[in-house]
Amino acid sequence: MDRKHIFGARVAVCHDCGKKFLFYHEGTPQKRCPICTDKKQARPSIVQKRELLNFYDGIEIVSLPTKWVHVPPEGERDDSFFKIVVKGSQYGADWNGRIDIFASEPFENGDVVSIREMEVQHQIKMKKRERQTMKYGVVEVEDELPITSTENDVENIVRSRRYLRFERSEELPTAHLVYAIAYTKTTIKGFGRQFWASVNTDTCIGSWKISGGVRSGRAHTTGVIAIVSNEHPLIITKTGDIEGEDIYE
Ligand SMILES: [Zn+2]
Repeated sequence: MDRKHIFGARVAVCHDCGKKFLFYHEGTPQKRCPICTDKKQARPSIVQKRELLNFYDGIEIVSLPTKWVHVPPEGERDDSFFKIVVKGSQYGADWNGRIDIFASEPFENGDVVSIREMEVQHQIKMKKRERQTMKYGVVEVEDELPITSTENDVENIVRSRRYLRFERSEELPTAHLVYAIAYTKTTIKGFGRQFWASVNTDTCIGSWKISGGVRSGRAHTTGVIAIVSNEHPLIITKTGDIEGEDIYE
């Protein structure tokens, strides 16, 4: 079967505002540009810009961080999709990072996909307020409000977020997608085993990280989604009471 792959963006004209916009999939483009779609659906934010950062093809899925969640059609959007969202918060309150994956079908291990890394910028409204806390005294809190909000003292800000989009590929696999976990645990001397894990993603074709741990810093976990191959492995080095190397290739 001859299937055309689109490496860059294609241009379409919006039925509502008449402006040109970019899209990144095959076949007929959507009727409206991202901005008009957001307006029509009264979304809490408006897409300002969507950009393709990287494109990888022929990637065989070896492991995923969690199960797909099915998102049914809603409003003007008549297609359903599947998503995976992982945040560092799953490994502890002191956390960093978030990875969003979107797909047209719930891909399984062994499936071969293309992966687009996208960056999207949303315009949102933000209201700052002060809150009293026990631990830190008065802190400034930022509340996100819908773009349609008529509240006073709100700021328009642009928030940028990256995500991955998987699509089925007909290419022969040349690399693997893995989800790897590196776990570090320290104890007061003499109480139980302790070990440290360091993650080296420099050699990977692509990688996206999250991390989280307990506030004391005694337990810390890093989760990595990585595109790897023989020549481009992901290496997790363990030292302490558990020693060794986990190599993903
Ligand atoms: Zn438009």
